[in-house]
Amino acid sequence: MSDTSRLSPATIAAQAAGAIDVQTGGVVPALPMATTYLRDAAYQPLRPDNIYLRDQSDIVRVAENVLAQLEGAKETLLFPSGMAALAAAFRTVPNGGRVLVQSQIYWGTTKWIRDFCTRRDIEVREVEASDTVAFTQTCASFKPTLALIETPSNPWLRVVDIQAAADGVHAVGGLLVVDSTAATPVLQQPLRHGADIVMHSATKGINGHSDVLAGVLATNNVTGRVWEDIKIDRHDAGAVIGPFEAWLLVRGMRTLPLRVREMSSNAAKLAAFLQDHPKIETVLYPGLPSHNGYELAQTQMTGGFGSLLSCVVKGGAEAALTVISKLTVFHRATSLGGVESLVEHRHTIEPHTGIPEGLLRLSVGIESIDDLRNDLVQAFDT
Ligand SMILES: *Cc1c(COP(=O)(O)O)cnc(C)c1O
Repeated sequence: MSDTSRLSPATIAAQAAGAIDVQTGGVVPALPMATTYLRDAAYQPLRPDNIYLRDQSDIVRVAENVLAQLEGAKETLLFPSGMAALAAAFRTVPNGGRVLVQSQIYWGTTKWIRDFCTRRDIEVREVEASDTVAFTQTCASFKPTLALIETPSNPWLRVVDIQAAADGVHAVGGLLVVDSTAATPVLQQPLRHGADIVMHSATKGINGHSDVLAGVLATNNVTGRVWEDIKIDRHDAGAVIGPFEAWLLVRGMRTLPLRVREMSSNAAKLAAFLQDHPKIETVLYPGLPSHNGYELAQTQMTGGFGSLLSCVVKGGAEAALTVISKLTVFHRATSLGGVESLVEHRHTIEPHTGIPEGLLRLSVGIESIDDLRNDLVQAFDT
């Protein structure tokens, strides 16, 4: 595989970092499905790096190489889901360790970490990490083994200062993991801002077509003990992605920079439209100058602010549900980062998380901005 790291993300993605099918000369990498590989007469593997599929797959390596180059990472590991990637990182924390987690992030993450840490006697502290002072002070007193931030956060769209968080955790000898799902590697590269490990749910924007479940961990500290443990655990415990999913991911990523640009542009226009709408109380989008994290997002995000935005409809749950019942272009469904626009009423699904009753979360796709805006106009007006 060629080193294309000096090329721009659009070129790396479009050409899958130079991957081709060497057997046929095809411009698209092959989909090798074999679970086991041949050995010669002396019982030596024909290729020492291909013995058994569990974590030895050429197409998975292609996908990991594309992701590593987009993320600015020395090494990237794929997992069968975002949660599997996150769990792989947290399983490195020893019993009796301490983890610091940003509050009000993706609920699946919060729930899994709480349950896991209870079983393992790991102490958990949750903190509003967009408050840099609070985060740094908690690091100093609590001394976490591992800290997790999610920026921009889902569904609150809070922006966390990655470099400040990294400095706070490193000062007490811990590691910083950043869930960068909402930004994708196109808009934000946490390793450049001091993060030790970046995590993505590649199910979302990275794949972008709502048809693959996948997760990513990436790092520059490839010789660290934690990374070694993660790799050994993936190999031995087998949380691996299948070849077909990896192949679909490579195909999806070819248009990643293009999709992200269009989605960010559509989301920014809808955020501006909603901000001026009389039936909207608040719009949460880091690309709006009125957003708390706008200035910080401008310094640590590049080329846009993402496809995810939330708004609070005046009149609570009833008003919000009335609006989404009338939408015809936006699909009513969970998840985010696909080419099709989705709308979600979080309070219906997660009433216990303190989410405002009127909050709608939009994942903005690549449809025509006029169709998306008109859909919102008619849903609010009727
Ligand atoms: C979806 C999501 C996850 C979980 O990823 P899966 O691929 O669904 O397992 C984690 N973090 C964030 C921010 C997400 O949006």
